Amino acid sequence: TVNEMKLCVPSKGCNEAFARSVVSAFIMNLDPTVNELSDLKTAVSEAVTNCIVHGYRRQSGMIYINGKITAENKVIITIRDKGCGIPNVKKAMEPLFTTAPEEERAGLGFAVMQSFCDKVRVRSKPDSGTTVTLEK
Ligand code: ATP
Ligand code: MG
Repeated sequence: TVNEMKLCVPSKGCNEAFARSVVSAFIMNLDPTVNELSDLKTAVSEAVTNCIVHGYRRQSGMIYINGKITAENKVIITIRDKGCGIPNVKKAMEPLFTTAPEEERAGLGFAVMQSFCDKVRVRSKPDSGTTVTLEK
C-alpha cells in the first residue's frame, strides 16, 4: 500500500457529497483522468447513499470509508455500515431490484457501481451491516 485514508461520518444526507469529495481528493495525486475521477465519485455516491437510505433506514449510525492506493496504482475504496444488512446480496445486486420502489428508487445503484468500477464486492449480514469494496 502506497497510501491510505480512513473517514468516518454519520449517516446524514450531506455526507454523501462530503465522502465523494474526500475520495476525489484522495486519488488526486494519481493524476486521474476526468472520466476515472467521475466514475469513482459516482460509484462512491451510490454506495454511501445506500448506507444512508437502506442500511440506516430505521436507525442512523456511522459510515466507515477506507481508501487504499496500491503499488500498482490501483484504488480500493471500502464503504461500510453497521445497519440492517442485506438478506440476499445476489438478488440485491440484480439491476432493477429495489426494496424501496415507493421512494422512486430505480434499483440501479449496484449496476452503476459495477459499470463504473473494475470490481465490486459486497459482504453483508442481516442486522450486522454491509461492506462494499470498489476497485478501480
Ligand atoms: P437506486 O440506487 O437506483 O436509487 P436502490 O438503492 O434500491 O435504487 P441498489 O443501490 O442497486 O438500488 O440497491 C439494491 C437494494 O439492495 C436496495 O433496494 C436495498 O434493499 C439493498 N441495499 C443496498 N445497499 C444496502 C445497504 N448498505 N444496507 C442495506 N440494504 C442495502
Ligand atoms: Mg442505491
